[in-house]
Amino acid sequence: MNDKLTVELISVGTEILMGNIINTNAAFLAEQCVRLGLNCYYQDVVGDNADRLKATIDTALGRADIIILGGGLGPTQDDLTKETAAECMGRKLYMDEDSKAAISDYFARTGRTPTDNNWKQAMMPEGCIILPNHNGTAPGCIIADKENNKHVILLPGPPEELKLMYTESVEPYLRSLMKGTIWSKTVKICGIGESRAESMIEDLIDSQTNPTIATYAKTGEVHIRVTAYGEDEQSAKKLVKPMVKELKSRFGEYIYSTEEDVTLEKAVVDLITGNGLTVSTIESCTGGLLAGRLISVPGVSDAFKSGLITYSNKSKRKLAGVKKSTLDKYGAVSKQTAAEMVKGVAALTKTDVAVATTGIAGPDGGTPEKPVGLVYIACYVCGNVTVTEHHFNGTRQKIRDNAVTSALNLMRRCILEYCSKKAFGGE
Ligand code: ATP
Repeated sequence: MNDKLTVELISVGTEILMGNIINTNAAFLAEQCVRLGLNCYYQDVVGDNADRLKATIDTALGRADIIILGGGLGPTQDDLTKETAAECMGRKLYMDEDSKAAISDYFARTGRTPTDNNWKQAMMPEGCIILPNHNGTAPGCIIADKENNKHVILLPGPPEELKLMYTESVEPYLRSLMKGTIWSKTVKICGIGESRAESMIEDLIDSQTNPTIATYAKTGEVHIRVTAYGEDEQSAKKLVKPMVKELKSRFGEYIYSTEEDVTLEKAVVDLITGNGLTVSTIESCTGGLLAGRLISVPGVSDAFKSGLITYSNKSKRKLAGVKKSTLDKYGAVSKQTAAEMVKGVAALTKTDVAVATTGIAGPDGGTPEKPVGLVYIACYVCGNVTVTEHHFNGTRQKIRDNAVTSALNLMRRCILEYCSKKAFGGE
């Protein structure tokens, strides 16, 4: 197996330390580094204080091969990262004329005039590799000490600058440091909880060497990442393939994709558009979240017709034609109401597919018979209606998010079932 390199992430900025902003940069960088196959044992957050930053960098240098710092490359006095990192690596700063020209160009392009302190951003550590910033003014840099195998990488704080610089310059650099190649594939599962999913692959987890497998839980989903190390991409891929095949045979239709860029909503939209179907939604407890997830997928406009929010009983009756007798007898949160909602919206908007949600998201409104977290989801596909009952836990938001994920999964399964029946001449 690869002698894995170790990376440590340092986020610089008092506003991160104080909780004023969420450290999305560290989440992004950690995910990317782990995906590359680097060990990531520590993350640090330091305020804009030179002494504490120096101590943090020195500590990181003692236990990691690669240190990635984000933030503090700006033009103001409290932006200290470059000066401090250069000092830790025993380098002086010099005025880099190319960086100065790039800053000048950036200001000219955006119709602004640089102030004197903007040139501070063109002061670079001696002997560093300069990383161009295509989304802002502060260049990043890599200070490498090849003798001791230490690499200190400085990136700007604004996430859109940091992400682009990472993708364009840092990832290729990190790959060049690694002896072999890492390849991974994620098997995305919906409809089974994380512990059940783990128990189904316990034997694979226990005996894993190369490839390795790791499970991650998302709201209503489980992702299993299979990662292999090989001398080249081809040999790493070859190791991943049989494991993915094994996972496919164990999880079957619970798997909605093995592609990196396919989300659950995209998988559903692809199924709808790929089969030339149209869709509408009718939501009560999820209040538009489901329509929002579907509409976030580019290309859905070919298929999506209407998204109704029928929150009150009156609107369920008026807009979706739910019968008064159904509401009186079974209540708004019931299998019967969900079924009438979905049939109503399909008829009203003339779609092939429709989905309905009705439930008690809490925190109030629950009863012993119908507790908080009870949600009915109905799916209509070309005349067939399926209704499922769910009992979710947690906050109002969590219950609603889980309801949306389950609704997407129900749509996926109902459409797949319809398509396979059709293929065998059953419809
Ligand atoms: P600038 O030239 O904008 O000053 P900088 O490299 O000095 O860039 P910071 O001043 O540290 O970066 O951060 C600029 C902004 O970027 C912050 O106000 C914040 O909105 C965002 N930011 C910084 N660090 C993070 C982080 N770790 N996660 C998410 N956002 C961040």
